[in-house]
Amino acid sequence: MKVGVLGAGQLGRMLALAGYPLGLRFCFLDPAAGSPASALAEHVVAPWGDAQALTQLAECDVVTFEFENVPVETVEMLATRTQVCPGAKALAVARDRLHEKTAFQELGIPTAKFAAVDDAAGLASALSEVGLPAVLKTRCFGYDGKGQHVIRSAADADAAWRALGGQPLLLEAFVTFSRELSLIAVRSRSGDTRFYPLVENEHREGILHLSRAPARNLDPAQQTRAEEHARRLLERLSYVGVLTLELFDVGGTLFANEIAPRVHNSGHWTIEGAETSQFENHLRAVCGLPLGSASARGPTAMLNFVGHMPPAARVLGIAGAHLHDYGKLPRARRKLGHVTLCGASPADLEAKIAEALALLEP
Ligand code: AMP
Repeated sequence: MKVGVLGAGQLGRMLALAGYPLGLRFCFLDPAAGSPASALAEHVVAPWGDAQALTQLAECDVVTFEFENVPVETVEMLATRTQVCPGAKALAVARDRLHEKTAFQELGIPTAKFAAVDDAAGLASALSEVGLPAVLKTRCFGYDGKGQHVIRSAADADAAWRALGGQPLLLEAFVTFSRELSLIAVRSRSGDTRFYPLVENEHREGILHLSRAPARNLDPAQQTRAEEHARRLLERLSYVGVLTLELFDVGGTLFANEIAPRVHNSGHWTIEGAETSQFENHLRAVCGLPLGSASARGPTAMLNFVGHMPPAARVLGIAGAHLHDYGKLPRARRKLGHVTLCGASPADLEAKIAEALALLEP
């Protein structure tokens, strides 16, 4: 079976690494030459709308994506010629924060108060509706903390408008959370679902820094609630593949922040830390194969290497460490690789995390 993938970044590379043992073949489309997946598989370097490239992709048995900012028209066009999973509907909801938040609201999933902002007057009325503090975000194309501004005062509102005005925006109430969690969920073509244990995520400068899985002191009731929220989304979107739900833990109540219609950085720990990785389960789902267990093998952590890769020998000097180098050129704020740490116990894992964090010291 041949899988076409829109996007050839590290997520695509890890999809290919998970798919080869299953006998799958891959064809990636990405306008950027030399992307991480190109070292492993056929890579068509062309714009997203290129007719010849899309014909090549359409020859695959199934097409999926590892990047949600692909034009919806590209996905819709491919869907007329081959299977596309997850479909254009899921992509259209996930890439627009207004549609995403509206879906949470309609499905009874708690989320921060929000209002759409289309112009300066709209910002003033949204601020009176949502209140302060608030976060102004671009509706589309925001990632790793880009395209958002916290507003604590009227002066901040002017600065936020100057930075982001002129495009569709969303204002959300600022959520004072105790921690950030994410749930990696997967749904097969036949509607079977699996949920990984909730992951606890720490960010630095808006970029994922460290994930612990399962989340520390995980309340089984919270896991059940998160799974209920994700199940409603999967069903509403007739979803096939991995879906990530990002959540804020507010004194035990889960507020949905956003969804990613794809495998996710907070699920990288599953490669070594779970019975079946998120990448393999995504491929199993889109290829119509039975899903694998999403149970954790033990306490696991994932530390991102951003902007700089420590020497491989030092990373691998940590017992239970697994290094992933995406083969990218170093650049500030760029995710270049990660390490997965498998602990014998929660305390052992914390010791390994401390060792790995020391590698990031200058
Ligand atoms: P996002 O692009 O929506 O995932 O936001 C990036 C990060 O900004 C999140 O992981 C949070 O740390 C923070 N953030 C986003 N929205 C809010 C909010 N409404 N209240 C507080 N923090 C937020």
